[in-house]
Parts: sequence; structure tokens; C-alpha cells
Amino acid sequence: MEYGGEYEVSTENPKPVVAFYGLTCCAGCQLEILNLEDDLLDILGKIDLVQFRMGSSAKHPGPYDVCFVEGSVTNDTEITLIKDLREKSKILVALGACATTGGVNALRNGRNIEELKQSVYGDSSHINTLPQILPLKSYVKVDHEIQGCPIAGDEFVEFLISLLTGATPTEKNYAVCVECRINENICLMKEGELCLGPITRAGCNALCPSVSIPCEGCWGPCPQANVESEIDMLSKKGASFDDVVRKFRMFNASKEDFMAQLKRRLNIEWL
Ligand code: SF4
Ligand code: SF4
Ligand code: SF4
Repeated sequence: MEYGGEYEVSTENPKPVVAFYGLTCCAGCQLEILNLEDDLLDILGKIDLVQFRMGSSAKHPGPYDVCFVEGSVTNDTEITLIKDLREKSKILVALGACATTGGVNALRNGRNIEELKQSVYGDSSHINTLPQILPLKSYVKVDHEIQGCPIAGDEFVEFLISLLTGATPTEKNYAVCVECRINENICLMKEGELCLGPITRAGCNALCPSVSIPCEGCWGPCPQANVESEIDMLSKKGASFDDVVRKFRMFNASKEDFMAQLKRRLNIEWL
């Protein structure tokens, strides 16, 4: 059997063999799936779920038809694991911000890792960690990404239905602002809030702005995000240099193109 290629449901087992794995993370994305109470039984009826630590202690060595991986690669052991999972899986899906952008784990990128280890742990000689946190696709071929911190349950269900029916999963290549306007929200920027909605990929149904909380960008940058215009807008709303850097780095510190645009606009070399 060849892995990492086109997906076909096995003729021996008509239900796809599905596994979930977690690397370094809070496990909130798997928890979001466990919380899919209305859809969970239907989902379980259509897949052969062989590994899902949120619901069962069962382990399965593979191979898998579909392997969902949440979390970031933070050490050598996890590099070995993700490569092994890639070998064993026809379809590998990165689940959530930690896996798709590095998420909050990547906040340490650009810092002196030895100094950080020392200040957090004191004697850190036993801490095995990589200096940079990168998306899973930096290590292996990833077939699909599901964004968010945590992911949205309805996006996950939509994705799974697409896979099971042979349809191409849809990508929302537009900004959170579009969803925000569909929801008829009053724009928080007009009220002086600092919102990343204009440059953040849609998919959360404008979750935060809909409850008057500005977007922090956890779905990652949307394609053709106009970073310069966003920085200008934030500055006009009174954002300081530190405010802008903090907001851009929160979930996307490992996004090189995104950070490069920020550095150019702010005329700085570090980040
Ligand atoms: S993306 Fe967010 S919710 Fe999901 S595992 Fe990472 S930190 Fe947790
Ligand atoms: S509140 Fe944020 S997401 Fe909503 S329209 Fe304004 S800038 Fe866009
Ligand atoms: S509004 Fe922004 S921060 Fe909130 S869930 Fe959506 S993408 Fe994430």
C-alpha cells in the first residue's frame, strides 16, 4: 500500500480507519471533537476510530486511512513520531493552530532558547526542546489543514463529510470580517478596538467579534492578507508598536511571509 497518495476507502473495511494523535499542546482541539455531542454518534457510525485518547485508552499501531494530528513538534521524539505517522497514513491532517502555524508554542521563536529554559526551569539540562516551532508541514507532507485555537467543531464535521463522500473539502479563502458582516455585527474597530479580522482566515463564524472581543488571528492569515493596511489601521486606532507586534505574533510567529511583511512595515529586523 502506498501512503500519502490519493484517498480510497479500503474494500476490506469499508469504514476508513481513523486515528488522532497529539503532540505538544493543550489537547483542546481533540476536546472540541469530543464536545460534538449532536454529531458524535453519526460520525462514529461512519468511521473505524482506532485511536482517540480523549475517548479511549485503546492504541492502534496503524496503518491509518486518515490520521489527525494536533499540537506542535517541539522535540526530536516528536519529529520521529510525525515522520512515522506520515509513513503510516494515507491522509494526514494538521488539526488546529499548534499544528498549522505553530500557534502559541511558536511565541518563543526568535528568543534565546537557552535563556528561556534557564528562566523557566532553572536547571534545564534535562529539557529536550527544539529552538524553533514550525508548522507540521515543515517536517512532512500534510494533506489538509483545519485551522483555529481550538478548531471549530462544525468545520471539522464538514471536513469529515467531504472526505467520506469523496468531495474536495472547501477552503474559506476570505477574512473573518466577511463572517462578521454576515452576522451584522457592529465593527469593533469603529469603537477603537484592535481587531485582526481583516487579515485572518474565516472559519470561526466571527466567534470573538460576535461577542465584542477583537480577533487575535487564531485561524491564521487569510490569503492575500493586506498586512500593511492592517498595521496602518491599528496605528490609527492608537495601537503602540508593542501592541502590533504582540497581536501579530500571538498565533502566527512562525509564519515567515506574514512576519516578513510586519518587519518591513515596522522597519525592524528582529522578531
Ligand atoms: S490549537 Fe489551541 S486548542 Fe488546539 S491544541 Fe493547540 S493550544 Fe490547544
Ligand atoms: S469587528 Fe473585526 S472582524 Fe468584525 S468587521 Fe470589524 S475588523 Fe472585521
Ligand atoms: S475571531 Fe479571530 S481569534 Fe476569535 S476564533 Fe475567530 S479567528 Fe480566532
